[in-house]
Amino acid sequence: MRDFSQDHRWLSINTATVRKSCGVEQPLTDIIEACARRGIKAISPWRDQVAAAGLPAISKLVKTHGLELSGYCRGGMFPVVDAAGAKAAYEDNRRAVDEACELNAACLVLVVGALPGALSGQAAHKDIALARSQVSDGIAALLEYAKSSGMPLAIEPLHPMYAADRACINTLEQALDVCDALDPTKSGALGVAVDVYHVWWDPKLQQQIERAGKERLLAFHVCDWLTPTTDLLNDRGMMGDGVIDLPKIRGWVENQGFAGYSEVEIFSTGNWWQRDTAEVLDTCIARHSSAV
Ligand code: ZN
Repeated sequence: MRDFSQDHRWLSINTATVRKSCGVEQPLTDIIEACARRGIKAISPWRDQVAAAGLPAISKLVKTHGLELSGYCRGGMFPVVDAAGAKAAYEDNRRAVDEACELNAACLVLVVGALPGALSGQAAHKDIALARSQVSDGIAALLEYAKSSGMPLAIEPLHPMYAADRACINTLEQALDVCDALDPTKSGALGVAVDVYHVWWDPKLQQQIERAGKERLLAFHVCDWLTPTTDLLNDRGMMGDGVIDLPKIRGWVENQGFAGYSEVEIFSTGNWWQRDTAEVLDTCIARHSSAV
């Protein structure tokens, strides 16, 4: 297992972590500059943040600072109600692949979607099995395009509390079943993003990380699970402040040969998004060394 205690060479910042400073939305360009000033080597930006700043500007800035992208957030949201929706989802996902290529991301992270309409409060139906089969079909179609572009796709299983509205793939086992069905040769084109917030509780976690192996382990996301959790989406904790045994899980992942970035991804309306960007980044650097 790599020693993180001496430096932050393998720290990546998911830019959602500092998208708000003292409650105010921050331009991605400012976030990138703040990361670069601290010697942070990698980021993982969100499409809406990139779009707001302009893809060419972000691409240039990333290159100027020699930053890597541990991932690009995000594609997915495959389940839809009709053919027009399917076409729109496919085209949008292709654009996400193109953007990820332009930014030279390590992978495009997929939050696969769930019951159509549920995210806006009105699920179109209750058939989660249908949603899951549409996810599989959607990934299969996108995989062809992503392969031709050389952009790996990383399925991120989300905690079951998001099964209705954000992702109907809820365990690493489920995600790997899809990988094995669509990419049986483990070509490297399809894998998983292991986000500890979503999978730490899973009794099969170690077994499934071993099943994934180096070829399927494309990204590793860290934060912490707070007790009590006060918001299902936006109350993630800073590493070390909760109940996840981060070094243990990182050890499992690295035992398989994963040698990529440890990406900090914290959505925190009530705490970290109320603080100054500098304080949040400095805390990420300190906890990367002491708690991951
Ligand atoms: Zn994540």
